[in-house]
Amino acid sequence: MRDVRTVSQHRAVIAALLPPTPVREHTLVDAVGLVLAKDLRSPIPLPPFDNSAMDGYAVRAREVANATPEHPIRLPVAEDIPAGRTDTPTLRPGTAHRIMTGAPMPPGADAIVPVEHTDGRIVDVRINRPAEPGAHLRRAGEDMPAGTLALPAGTILGAAQLGLAAAIGYATVPVRRRPYVLILSTGSELVKPGRPLRHGQIYESNGAMLAAAVIEAGGRAEQPRSVPDDVDELLETVRLQVSSAEAGVDLLLTSGGVSAGAYEVVKDALASRGVEFVKVAMQPGGPQGAGRLAGFGAAGLPTVTLPGNPVSALVSFEVFVRPALRAAMGYPHPDRPVRRLPLGETLRSPAGKRQFRRGILDTASGTVRAVGSPGSHLLSALARASCFIVLDEDNTEHQAGEETEVWLLDR
Ligand code: AMP
Ligand code: MG
Repeated sequence: MRDVRTVSQHRAVIAALLPPTPVREHTLVDAVGLVLAKDLRSPIPLPPFDNSAMDGYAVRAREVANATPEHPIRLPVAEDIPAGRTDTPTLRPGTAHRIMTGAPMPPGADAIVPVEHTDGRIVDVRINRPAEPGAHLRRAGEDMPAGTLALPAGTILGAAQLGLAAAIGYATVPVRRRPYVLILSTGSELVKPGRPLRHGQIYESNGAMLAAAVIEAGGRAEQPRSVPDDVDELLETVRLQVSSAEAGVDLLLTSGGVSAGAYEVVKDALASRGVEFVKVAMQPGGPQGAGRLAGFGAAGLPTVTLPGNPVSALVSFEVFVRPALRAAMGYPHPDRPVRRLPLGETLRSPAGKRQFRRGILDTASGTVRAVGSPGSHLLSALARASCFIVLDEDNTEHQAGEETEVWLLDR
């Protein structure tokens, strides 16, 4: 007799297979989308020095207080300070320095006159408007004083956060490394896309789909492998792939070969080797397996076996694997955003099973509608869906207008 598990029981089993990945320094670009593992303080003030916010002339404000277009103030230009000049020429009374945006303020100057308020000359300049003290000046530390907590641990590193890390001098950031997921599709009917198809064969689509799902979740996956329904070939492929994975495999993720028919290769190969096969009270995605595959280190290789139907495979990934992978990477909110939204139509679901229907949001009415029927082979509807509509196990009829749990898949 096989166990019947609830969705949350099986989620807990899979979460326990994936401990937090180790913290490693990543170059900034490699860290995009990952979670900062430690607080980052700024070792420098930002900006690091007083500098000009405009192309123009550094002056003493009181020397140009009476400048007008009719009576411009004429000052000799003693220095030219482009951005990047690292010496510190002092502004002597009665002179101006030509200065560019981002160039350091010369000591003695207290204002910038934008070039637009001058005649723009290089040897001596006519200034035709006054400047307030501090005008167009960017103060050292005005953005952040040195020692500020710039990015707290737990920050998800996007473009702006990585830009800030670079601006305060970090070449690398500490993040939990991406888990490496070895993806293995099974089925003698499967043909690699790009090759001719004979009658009875189909293209192998779970591999690309699950690899993409792993990468979108923040994990690492390579070209998926596919094996026919042959126990020895499956085991040999796993051994070969695990031994050639330089940084090790964090998770073996298979699809197909786990249900009740004959030729259930994954079940046949792994059931006696530490992987438990169960039924989960959900639809699609009833048949599931998880465990630690014996023969790979003392603890065994964390393994999740998904059903083969493409919709079942992706729904199971979303429900069980994605949150576990993201928790292992330290995401503060590993789950997809969940909303409660009214149904735009009446939907039926089987008794005793939680149903995950593919849905789309109607932004105008704020309701959700199912795309396609519940069939777990219907890939085109899956590709059009932007959410899952979660129909609870206690009701078989869900009325239009009723508020229902919705998982947003596109954010
Ligand atoms: P299985 O769980 O192996 O019995 O597969 C269930 C259904 O999913 C069958 O129709 C398979 O042909 C299909 N299937 C299994 N694996 C894949 C795959 N990698 N790509 C596309 N379809 C698959
Ligand atoms: Mg199969």
